[in-house]
Amino acid sequence: MRNDISEIVLSEEEIQNIAERLGKKITEDYEGKTPILVGLLKGSIMFMGDLIKYIDTHLEIDFMDVSSYVGTKSSGEVKILKDLSTSVDGRHVLVVEDIIETGTTLNSIIDLIEYRNAASLEIVTLLDKPINRELEVDVKYIGTEIPDGFVVGYGLDFDEKYRNLPYIGLLKPELYQ
Ligand code: 5GP
Repeated sequence: MRNDISEIVLSEEEIQNIAERLGKKITEDYEGKTPILVGLLKGSIMFMGDLIKYIDTHLEIDFMDVSSYVGTKSSGEVKILKDLSTSVDGRHVLVVEDIIETGTTLNSIIDLIEYRNAASLEIVTLLDKPINRELEVDVKYIGTEIPDGFVVGYGLDFDEKYRNLPYIGLLKPELYQ
């Protein structure tokens, strides 16, 4: 499996440093507020797990499963496969995303959560791939920017594989092109 990776984009240690930095910032910004962190399945599972270890305020977690991708190509559509189990009405919501590329997924989620009357809404993403952005998204907490290329690992998949890698790696293009 590891032979399918051409380059390590973020090591385990680098990921922990990012989670710690963002977790501390969120702790300061949400002191006394009990935010709901909404993880977008399935890619955000590992990042959610690490990030909350570094947030030192009361919080709740919930998950949504939305899908806009088949293989490596955006279909331009977002479907809700699993909705939240908590009401966000009047709550401070932090959406936790693995990677933002076109911005399609987040735009739909933002509309939905605002429609449901959240008190505030911010986005946390581990990775930002701005080169393919189609819709502008205001992201307050960004782990790191990455260049073009398809990354896997640390929750991110290619056709449901590679999620269990402990780091983020660049998938060899010959495996998906
Ligand atoms: P967007 O809607 O911003 O185009 O894409 C966001 C979603 O696309 C992410 O949550 C992720 O599922 C998928 N995605 C975008 N780029 C990559 C990538 O490089 N690798 C993987 N594994 N998924 C990606």
